Amino acid sequence: MKNIIEIIKQEIKNILSEQPIVQDDYYLYFGPNDEKNRGFCAALVGKIVTKRKLNQMQNKDGNNPVEWLGGYGCRHKLVQVSWEYIQKNKIPFASDSDYKKAMRN
Ligand SMILES: [Zn+2]
Repeated sequence: MKNIIEIIKQEIKNILSEQPIVQDDYYLYFGPNDEKNRGFCAALVGKIVTKRKLNQMQNKDGNNPVEWLGGYGCRHKLVQVSWEYIQKNKIPFASDSDYKKAMRN
């Protein structure tokens, strides 16, 4: 019997290699990654996020992160990137736990 870790690894590989159905909703949470970051930004910076997901969230000020990201004065930007760009540069996707972390801060 295959080790459960191996099965999960293979499954993740399969998921990552599949061309997604929605191809125009990948954004790099772009900007500095330092101690000045708000928790919201710290959880997502350098990762791929979707507006579909961000639209369901609120930042600390209660505003929509698609427009405001971490809030007033946020130094970050959402930069739209292609699936090919993500694969080529091996950019990680924000996980559910990253989004949850962002929401807590
Ligand atoms: Zn920010």
